[in-house]
Amino acid sequence: MILHLYRIQHKDQVSFAVLREDRFYFVDVRNPQMPVSAEKSAPSSECKILNPTQPTKIIGVGLNYKDHAEERNKPIPSEPLLFIKPSTALVAHEEKIVLPPVSKRVDPEGELAIIIGRQAHLLSGPDDSDRFIFGYSCFNDVTARDLQDKDVQFTRAKGFDTCAPFGPCVAIGVDPRDLAISTRVNGQLRQSSRTNQLIFNAQYLVWYVSQIMTLMPGDVISTGTPSGIAPIYDGDTVEIEIESVGLLRNTVKRQE
Ligand code: MG
Repeated sequence: MILHLYRIQHKDQVSFAVLREDRFYFVDVRNPQMPVSAEKSAPSSECKILNPTQPTKIIGVGLNYKDHAEERNKPIPSEPLLFIKPSTALVAHEEKIVLPPVSKRVDPEGELAIIIGRQAHLLSGPDDSDRFIFGYSCFNDVTARDLQDKDVQFTRAKGFDTCAPFGPCVAIGVDPRDLAISTRVNGQLRQSSRTNQLIFNAQYLVWYVSQIMTLMPGDVISTGTPSGIAPIYDGDTVEIEIESVGLLRNTVKRQE
């Protein structure tokens, strides 16, 4: 069974919750499958959806779909190409992406995010990864494309505040191997693929990253984007939708 677990703020209380109809029912994150009770619930209109976790780090993976490597005129990597996005770039579902004024071209990148559930270091192999994975979510690896092309590495191009939309929830119990993933801008389809097109899959990436750094509960590995990259502008609405996982929506505004 797939469970969609939200992290929400209701009044000044932050809780994990499940959504039924238009109410959030608060649950214990250690036992989210437990029966819900009406006393511990609130109308969704009174709740703000937060990022599903507060990661200590967000690890991005470059060129992890063959068609995207081709559109970027880059060779297909023989090992995962990793970079880090700062946690200060995070925004939640329905929060704004603010266009960095220093960039002339900002693109959304729809991606499947892996959320870590247990501290993981030096895993023995990809087959060992599943027990360290909390679940999956949607991630938008917003990228200042002109700066990415100009810089040797990606820290500036992918590090701006608000350029890491993440959410809306953690999907627990999802098989990530063959899910439809799409990105729409103002309702128009920009990216459409399946996670079976990933060069390095979720289990491989968790194992691979664990050989380098300790993954902490809540950390995010965003698995890379398929082809179809194109810019966004002030006033646009970006939606990343992943089958069985969720739909992440953010609007775009210019810096004031
Ligand atoms: Mg990306």
